Amino acid sequence: PDISDLVANRLRDVADFPKQGVVFKDITPLLGDGDVFGAVIRELASRHTGSSSAQPIDAVAGVEARGFIIGAALAHELGVGFVPVRKVGKLPGDTVQRTYDLEYGTATIEIQSDAVSPGQRVLLVDDVLATGGTAIAAWDLLGGVGAEVVEFATIVELAFLGGRKAMGERPVRALHVVG
Ligand code: 5GP
Repeated sequence: PDISDLVANRLRDVADFPKQGVVFKDITPLLGDGDVFGAVIRELASRHTGSSSAQPIDAVAGVEARGFIIGAALAHELGVGFVPVRKVGKLPGDTVQRTYDLEYGTATIEIQSDAVSPGQRVLLVDDVLATGGTAIAAWDLLGGVGAEVVEFATIVELAFLGGRKAMGERPVRALHVVG
């Protein structure tokens, strides 16, 4: 079966979460299915390994918290390190921060100033692309400390929220597109 269908079959729609009027795409069933979780990670890894046309990367970055689950598994699959992008106040040492608008509210995320080496090729991942605010903030944080971010990869894209357009020139890859 097609990876998009595998993902679709393991998403759960939760009405009015985290607030009234929002239909939240819950990926917990996908994470709980070892076959589908494995297929998702292998599919995300596929274009960064093996063939000569693959895009090589030096590290995977993921956004707290679900981006950690996807990102750590993907980094392990690719044999590269993982860079955590965290909610503000969690990381020790020198950090850089960015505040952005969310689908619901605002948020501030940060990374350590020495999170990457200059020119390191980084693959940024998260579970869901909604408005794009989180992905853009994380991308620009990584770029600001010297990374060359090659792509934003997500399991689910909520196309009706316009995230891909908001991302502009930044390449986006989604395994399953809703709307
Ligand atoms: P954005 O910044 O693109 O508006 O929202 C994306 C961020 O919010 C991601 O970190 C994602 O985990 C979370 N998010 C927004 N909407 C959903 C949703 O429907 N399901 C899940 N699982 N996460 C969401």
